[in-house]
Amino acid sequence: MSRPARAVIHLDALKHNYRLAKSLAGEGNALAVVKADAYGHGAISCAQSLSDEADGFAVACIEEALELRAAGIRNRMLILEGFFDPSELTEIASENLDIVVHNPEQIRILEQTPLDKPVRVWLKMDSGMHRVGILPDQYRDAWIRLEQLPWINEILLMTHLACADEPDNGYTLQQLETFERHTLGLPGERSIANSAGLIHCASARADWSRPGLMLYGASPFDRSHEIESTLKPVMELQSAIISIKEIPAGSPVGYAGTAVTQKTTRLGVIAIGYADGYPLAPNGTPVVVNGQSVPLIGRVSMDMLTIDLSEVEGVNVGDPALLWGKDLPVTEIARHAGTIPYQLLCNLNRVPVSYT
Ligand code: PLP
Repeated sequence: MSRPARAVIHLDALKHNYRLAKSLAGEGNALAVVKADAYGHGAISCAQSLSDEADGFAVACIEEALELRAAGIRNRMLILEGFFDPSELTEIASENLDIVVHNPEQIRILEQTPLDKPVRVWLKMDSGMHRVGILPDQYRDAWIRLEQLPWINEILLMTHLACADEPDNGYTLQQLETFERHTLGLPGERSIANSAGLIHCASARADWSRPGLMLYGASPFDRSHEIESTLKPVMELQSAIISIKEIPAGSPVGYAGTAVTQKTTRLGVIAIGYADGYPLAPNGTPVVVNGQSVPLIGRVSMDMLTIDLSEVEGVNVGDPALLWGKDLPVTEIARHAGTIPYQLLCNLNRVPVSYT
């Protein structure tokens, strides 16, 4: 028997979630964010399955864009980090890629690199995230400089929200107000919202939203949110029980004995560990075996983790285990592990991936 750990990707769920994003976007377009190998789900397979209906895709860097172009994805495609080198611009133009421009150095490169084929630019404002983006009081000048270049055929106005995953956080409205004020009167389509903004902030939807996490069926919110009932998890991380035994009360479990049994305990071992991308989640993190939720016990190891089967009946070696997926949201595992669902999905490693 081969090692049972594997990930199953449900492309019908991806389509469902994209359609949900589109319905939230209303009249607006939705760029499906497939950077970082589609958040660990496989960028080529995900883009192929959405290519008939997606308004476009967003990737992090040129390498990711070229990989999709080479796989035959012809949809509109935005490179979120833009470019850093004049030599990249010719390829960007010839491959018909859109670029984000987020700093004055990129504007300087564009001014000094005439192109035969024009490019489309998404000019990003730092409206409060304070990562990349042109500062608000320099934004209009940046726009004017770009507008003068004959090899730029369209300038879109863009920003990114820092706290949209906290629906009550007033910082989002401050960012929207800053963006609005500093783009007043500038022509061009606008793009603001990530998944969280698209879901809960109507005024952030604009012409182009950029949903990522929600496409993969995970809620972007730090607390429970009604959207969870309409999203369909795309990835199922599965494995199986490879050992069961009973140990007495007072037994330390696993490396460093971080858990000690309080009573006679039926211990199960599942073939999955942190080398597969499962996090160092604490005692009590749920795992589903045979449809029943059981708690993790002891420290997660590289290839295995242990669960307490004392409270469930009828579980045997070889039975399937679900680490996240339908009925066990990755967002819940992330909360237990003190991380974010993005990191868990992107960190998937070693396990064979199949598509349905
Ligand atoms: N837009 C930009 C600029 C991003 O960097 C990201 C993700 O990091 C997204 C959109 C998608 O965000 P989310 O996955 O939260 O929907």
